[in-house]
Amino acid sequence: MEAVYLDYASTTPVDDRVARRMADCLTRDGVFANPASRTHAPGRAAANAVEQAREQVATAINGDPRGLVFTSGATEADNLALKGVAGFQRDRGRHIVTAANEHKAVLDVCRALEFDGFEVTRVQPRGDGTVTPESIEGALRPDTVLVSVMHANNETGTINDIGAIARVVRGHGARFHVDAAQTGARLELDVEALDLDLVSLSAHKTYGPKGIGALWVRRRPRVRLLPQMHGGGHEHGLRAGTLATHQIVGMGEAFALAQSERDADRAHAEDLRARLFAQLDTLEGVRDNGAGAQRLPWTRNIAFTGVEGEALAAALADRVAVATGSACTSASTEPSYVLRAMGQPADQAAEAVRLSWGRMTTTEEMEHAARTLVDTVSRLRHGAAVA
Ligand SMILES: *Cc1c(COP(=O)(O)O)cnc(C)c1O
Repeated sequence: MEAVYLDYASTTPVDDRVARRMADCLTRDGVFANPASRTHAPGRAAANAVEQAREQVATAINGDPRGLVFTSGATEADNLALKGVAGFQRDRGRHIVTAANEHKAVLDVCRALEFDGFEVTRVQPRGDGTVTPESIEGALRPDTVLVSVMHANNETGTINDIGAIARVVRGHGARFHVDAAQTGARLELDVEALDLDLVSLSAHKTYGPKGIGALWVRRRPRVRLLPQMHGGGHEHGLRAGTLATHQIVGMGEAFALAQSERDADRAHAEDLRARLFAQLDTLEGVRDNGAGAQRLPWTRNIAFTGVEGEALAAALADRVAVATGSACTSASTEPSYVLRAMGQPADQAAEAVRLSWGRMTTTEEMEHAARTLVDTVSRLRHGAAVA
């Protein structure tokens, strides 16, 4: 058996149905023309494909499709949201509120904005990883122009109460941005019901291709942004560059599927989670980070007392693919800043691994991975006791 892939939170395989739609947009026989070439039929066919995808993605979050701006991914969407709002509002106020356990795509932009004269308050999450509306409210100031809080955390899978936070932010008058890269359309997020201003989306965490994402921007009342990419006026002047039809069509199909298969995907993920924990429950000293909070059914952050997460991941590498900390920070060996922000001491945070699964994970794979995990943890603990 090749390695069981339990790192869906870093990226998912592309769904076969999505790949087929994408392939139709590449070659001479397909929808390959430039969507901006409205003067001829092939160009208009590409533009239609793009607009259909825009509709699919926007519908999945119940948003106005005209507010959807395609980007290269959620990282770029986060950059556009934060720098765009900050740039537009800088004469009204220069204070931003976010949380200490946000993704680097938000935190590093905040750091850059600090060098540019903005002040940033990073609220601490609770021990379960969630950010409370009260903590956000306490951080708001008269000069706060933007609040950015993620839907679900990429390391722990904890879900924030976005509706309650949105009410606090709306009451104040600042703009509210939500990084929904980990949820996409897989978990319900209704931008109208929740009254959100800006939402970052990524295709490749939702069975779509890498290299494509979107920022949804509210049009009524209008949220104004300073563009970050100039040249050609694409996407209402908010993001220049020839639209990548195949990527966009892939994202559209992926989001349509995520919406139509939401219940089935969730039920499957919950079944796999139960199988995983049936095995893990046979071990002593297992900590389930984020327990008590609402969480994604396909992500768990687990620490095995006495076993370094890095050592466990390395010992598993050929058999089970797992992440330590966040994949985006795995180049460094610092224990996860996300777990540290939840109040965990460094040595405890260093024991964590992230397991994440999805639509293509089979029950056999999960059973096999769970047994391998239990055996490997026992072996590493035994080795440590002897050493
Ligand atoms: C993956 C991820 C991102 C970055 O998305 P890309 O599309 O890979 O740029 C941003 N935020 C969160 C929460 C993520 O999980």
